[in-house]
Amino acid sequence: MKAMLLERIADLRREREPLTKATVPDPVPAPREVLVRISACGVCHTELDEIEGRTPPLRFPVIPGHQVVGTVVGRGEGAGAFQTGDRVGVGWIFSSCGTCGFCRRGLENLCPEFKATGRDANGGYGALMTVPERFAYRIPSVFSDSEAAPLLCAGAIGYRSLRLARIEDGERLGLTGFGASAHLVLKMVRHRYPNTDVFVFARGKREQAFARELGAAWAGDTDETPPAKLHAVIDTTPVYKPVVEALKNLESGGRLIINAIRKESVDRDYLLNLEYPKHLWMEKEIKSVANVARRDISEFLELAAQVPIRPEYQEFPLEEANRALMELKERKIRGAKVLRMDDP
Ligand SMILES: [Zn+2]
Ligand SMILES: [Zn+2]
Repeated sequence: MKAMLLERIADLRREREPLTKATVPDPVPAPREVLVRISACGVCHTELDEIEGRTPPLRFPVIPGHQVVGTVVGRGEGAGAFQTGDRVGVGWIFSSCGTCGFCRRGLENLCPEFKATGRDANGGYGALMTVPERFAYRIPSVFSDSEAAPLLCAGAIGYRSLRLARIEDGERLGLTGFGASAHLVLKMVRHRYPNTDVFVFARGKREQAFARELGAAWAGDTDETPPAKLHAVIDTTPVYKPVVEALKNLESGGRLIINAIRKESVDRDYLLNLEYPKHLWMEKEIKSVANVARRDISEFLELAAQVPIRPEYQEFPLEEANRALMELKERKIRGAKVLRMDDP
């Protein structure tokens, strides 16, 4: 089958084609796994973290991609949850041990044996993949393949972030960074919390305008002061300045939820601007979002189908994965980017 391979860590400031086009043997499903013929795979900022070595793969080469939509075309021994021909999705969580205390409480995102799709196991930048059937999800019929793909990471992790933000209808929510995940959170909030005003912090004028188009009450630059203090802020940026600025804008008792698997170190010095009374005192909380649990993906898909939440997306052929990644790196973002595997 054809695939785009990550063969080593790359520095994207110098190298614009980190993935190699290749033909590799078709995968074979192990017991309780399904074989999926992939039709679409979303492109996520976490792929940049893998490529640049901030969250490196366990082994090379690896096929990246963890927002996968396709059709079941084979089943391993004992796999019975899906029929051949069923449309399924795969997200960031590829597997967990299933027996530890975290797994037993539905917190398999925190399992010490957590394995990530497209990093610790081959993912969706290819024609086929295998996945444990427990970690495959039915895709509601209202979505096309390309619409469903970004829901599986950006959407599901956005859903987890919003759960952790614990806002009530009418409380003010900030979103700092306005990429694939944040724009889906904004759509979710408009549906679930109709009286909540959303304040969007983004560097680009285009992103700010896009946020207003989608119903943000206010949009400004990262260091602008919003017209009111915020009960919670969800940060989806790869850097530190927005963290400090968000803490400043929090209401007393407010929560900052950091939805980023890694932060880049370019502006780490900005943390020295932290002043305890201004940024932390008055019972402000900070919590990170780690991975995603099965519950987040299945609940979010259901919610997204009800609303329905349709992501804005741009399609690229699989072979142009490098271009899609570089556009993400250079923050040429409007909604989500999706690779298509149309030609076999
Ligand atoms: Zn992702
Ligand atoms: Zn576990």
